[in-house]
Amino acid sequence: MGEKGFELQIINYLLDLVFPPTCEICGKVGMYLCEKCCKDVTKYELKSFLGNNTINVYKYEDIIRKWIIDYKFNDKAYMCNIFAQLLIKNKKVIDFLYGCDIIIPVPLHLIRRLERGYNQTYLIAKILSKKLKIKVKKDILIKVKNIKPQSEKGYLERREDIKGVFEVKNKNEIKDKNVLIFDDVYTTGSTTKECKRVLLQAGAKRVKVLTISRQVLQKR
Ligand SMILES: [Zn+2]
Repeated sequence: MGEKGFELQIINYLLDLVFPPTCEICGKVGMYLCEKCCKDVTKYELKSFLGNNTINVYKYEDIIRKWIIDYKFNDKAYMCNIFAQLLIKNKKVIDFLYGCDIIIPVPLHLIRRLERGYNQTYLIAKILSKKLKIKVKKDILIKVKNIKPQSEKGYLERREDIKGVFEVKNKNEIKDKNVLIFDDVYTTGSTTKECKRVLLQAGAKRVKVLTISRQVLQKR
């Protein structure tokens, strides 16, 4: 860790002393999400998963959707702690992560990251990495093309657009490794599928996908 990282840790520590975290739901002082509210959130968990290699933990609705939007677009970087806590306390997630060598957060294009000031998935992945002792790497999967937000498009258009968006750097770091791709919302899966494809092509042994949530299409 560089010196800047260390300084940031001290600043965060001091901030926690002066402004201790409060539960995002009930306001209880001491944690970003208290034990009780953490349990309440389990009602949004998805019961079914997409095969052996993909876990989407929550339905992208209600409070989960609101939190992800707040976190991504409303400058609430501290919320990375809430998502990390929810994932770390989830036994299914911990079992799923067993055997992973590297966590790779789905990257943002540089321009978008500069606009936002942070890559939201990386902040969460960094906490997971520290708690679970799995390396996190953001210099391997690089987004080389900026495309329209995926949510504004139809399925076929997404699949076509996503080709050539990601490149793999430092291939030796993933060679024969078990890699975990981490993202916030799984919509059609075209983004994570493409990440998976380029990582396997670059020599990864196995690629799994973990996302905080999945958009479940409603039947009308
Ligand atoms: Zn609470």
